[in-house]
Amino acid sequence: MAFIPSASDEEIRREKAKARELRASAWWKRRLAAGRCGYCGRPTPPRELTMDHRVPLVRGGRSAKGNLVPACKACNAAKKYLLPVEWEAYLARLADQARVEEASSSRPAEKDWTNPRERS
Ligand SMILES: [Zn+2]
Repeated sequence: MAFIPSASDEEIRREKAKARELRASAWWKRRLAAGRCGYCGRPTPPRELTMDHRVPLVRGGRSAKGNLVPACKACNAAKKYLLPVEWEAYLARLADQARVEEASSSRPAEKDWTNPRERS
C-alpha cells in the first residue's frame, strides 16, 4: 500500500482560507472565463466549473495556483467517488483520448480553439 501523506486540521483550515482568497482573484476569474475543464478539457460554461485541488488538501495538497484547476461536474463527481488510484486511471484515460483525438485530427492544431464544438 502506498504511503498517503495526510494534513492536520490546522493546515487544512489554512489552505481552505487561501483557496477562498484565490477564488476571488482575477487569476481564477480568468481561468473560469476560459470555460474549459482543467481535467477533461471539455468546453464548460464558467458557472458550472468549480475549483478543485489536483492533490486534495487531506493528502497534503496546497492551495497554490499549480494545484488548483477548474473542474466540470462530471470530473468533480468522478474525483469525489473514485479511489485515488481509480482517479489516476481516469486521468490517464483522458490523456489517451486527447492523444488519439490529436492524432486523428487532420486540422492544424492552432485552428482548434476557434470552434471547439466541432471536435466532439
Ligand atoms: Zn471535466
